[in-house]
Amino acid sequence: MNKGKDVLQSHRNEQGYNIYKAGGVDRINETKFIVESQTEKNKYYEVELVASDFCCNCPDYEKRSSWLDCKHIMAARHYLAAYAMRKQAFI
Ligand SMILES: [Zn+2]
Repeated sequence: MNKGKDVLQSHRNEQGYNIYKAGGVDRINETKFIVESQTEKNKYYEVELVASDFCCNCPDYEKRSSWLDCKHIMAARHYLAAYAMRKQAFI
């Protein structure tokens, strides 16, 4: 069963990376991101960092958040990882 989860999560990771690469992530403030929908034009989802957990307002998150991160959350993670790397490069 775990293997199925890994496959689904890595698929979302890939989709999230594509969204991030295409410039689909906007950081609104410290904890809030606006992430473009991959399937619908001009549709955006809100990803928010609460404590150290991400939440999103897309249907995928609503259905599967207990065991899976949606692609918007993954996109925000890629954004943050790249940001952290850039920051380090300037120290
Ligand atoms: Zn989402």
